[in-house]
Amino acid sequence: MITFKDVSLVYPNGTQGLKNINVKINEGEFVVIVGLSGAGKSTFIRSINRMVTPTNGELLVDDEDILKVEGKDLRKLRTKVGMIFQNYNLVNRSSVMKNVISGRLGHTGTLRSIFNLYPKEDKIKAYDNLRRVNMESKLYNRADQLSGGQQQRVSIARVLTQDPSIILADEPVASLDPPTSHQVMTYLRKVNQEDNITTIVNLHFIDMAMEYADRIIGMRDGEIVFDGPVSEVEEKT
Ligand code: ADP
Ligand code: ADP
Repeated sequence: MITFKDVSLVYPNGTQGLKNINVKINEGEFVVIVGLSGAGKSTFIRSINRMVTPTNGELLVDDEDILKVEGKDLRKLRTKVGMIFQNYNLVNRSSVMKNVISGRLGHTGTLRSIFNLYPKEDKIKAYDNLRRVNMESKLYNRADQLSGGQQQRVSIARVLTQDPSIILADEPVASLDPPTSHQVMTYLRKVNQEDNITTIVNLHFIDMAMEYADRIIGMRDGEIVFDGPVSEVEEKT
């Protein structure tokens, strides 16, 4: 469970990214955040894995106030809370397999990763996760040989390989065409349901949000201005 209690965030230049946010997100929910550019969607999402740090309030992830964690505990938080980005953030020159296996904690930059010496169970896990997004046939391709949609599917496999209980997706389909966007959203929804992973996705488009979300949170100027199930959005529009 994720609980924001009076959470505010003021950036160093004085911009208020979040204003007094109070919200609870339950285990296994699929929540979509909508709002115009600058509404605070990224700031909200990034607070949950401490890519940004709110300046006030309490932010509980499974009863721990994550605004206080640092060092080793911060790395643990970022393993539990996986992240997917608009631009995929794969290592372009590395193979698909190597990218996915890097989701396992501690491989990046180690001697194992330099010599491709990974424990067998990690390789199996990476392969299984590639299968879940139908990308196992591209195992040995370099990441930059894939289309955008394929790269985003690989990034889903990578995040799954870190065994997260929460996935944050910051505009995961903003660089993709509509059919590919639907495909990526379908995979995110599928793994949310199969593994009961709490999933929070930022989207520009309300139509897409309504198609996939359990619950929609609308933001404007750093505040939550709507929070409800899709059926309530339908009543209001
Ligand atoms: P969204 O994701 O909805 O586009 P953001 O969370 O990126 O919104 O931004 C919320 C507000 O905070 C905007 O006014 C934006 O310009 C500002 N902002 C975002 N990141 C920073 C930053 N690093 N420093 C200063 N202001 C920022
Ligand atoms: P998006 O809204 O698509 O996430 P932006 O173009 O708003 O991307 O922001 C890109 C980067 O610039 C982010 O790291 C964000 O935190 C930062 N940023 C956004 N607005 C500002 C701002 N007003 N001042 C400083 N940094 C900002």
